Amino acid sequence: MQTIAERLKLAHERIDQATARSHRPSNSVQLLAVSKTKPVSDIRQAYEAGQRLFGENYIQEGVEKIQAMAELDDIQWHMVGPIQSNKTRLVAEHFDWVQSVDRLKIARRLNEQRPSHLAPLNVCIQLNLDGEASKSGISAEELSALVEQIEGFENLRLRGIMAIPQAGVTDAQQNDTLEQLAELFGQYHTKLSNFDTLSVGMSGDLEAAVAHGSTMVRVGTAIFGARRG
Ligand SMILES: *Cc1c(COP(=O)(O)O)cnc(C)c1O
Repeated sequence: MQTIAERLKLAHERIDQATARSHRPSNSVQLLAVSKTKPVSDIRQAYEAGQRLFGENYIQEGVEKIQAMAELDDIQWHMVGPIQSNKTRLVAEHFDWVQSVDRLKIARRLNEQRPSHLAPLNVCIQLNLDGEASKSGISAEELSALVEQIEGFENLRLRGIMAIPQAGVTDAQQNDTLEQLAELFGQYHTKLSNFDTLSVGMSGDLEAAVAHGSTMVRVGTAIFGARRG
């Protein structure tokens, strides 16, 4: 059995190899450790090994962990799961980032509910280019309207886009989706000063994502082991 620290090191090695192959600087890709369903003790192990960015999928579970680890004030907490509009307040009050914004209603509520003593909430718009019904996210056609609306919200800072490309497709299909994401990201990255994040790539596909310009990979299983259930 490998420790969490050993698996984190392996994840960094994978990122370093993938950036090197694409002639990108090794620090151009951040590692978000997705700790959903895993106990606080696992997150502490990762923290002690140097990890600072953590992602959670379930709001209540995430808030409990944030509160349990409140003394570690250099952790950056990212919400990456679907958000119901009646849960936005908890997200606005506790998280540093929300990567799964997929409609105006959610963005508007997060903007209204972000406490004024906190820095603006960093947000990414979730895209679903493969049109998978099981996943949240908007189409490419809907992106420009939502970008414009979020840019008008003073308590939100639009940082980029997030996507979960379909698993189990051909390499050609995967590349096609990743290329579209990179293209959309590039359009806004050149125009908007804070738009610096292309969050794509997970345990199984981080190399392909990094080859297509990902700036943040979200890794759960490869760091914390398989999830139950
Ligand atoms: C669970 C999850 C991940 C991590 O997936 P792994 O395959 O375990 O690395 C990344 N992003 C999102 C949005 C997730 O829900």
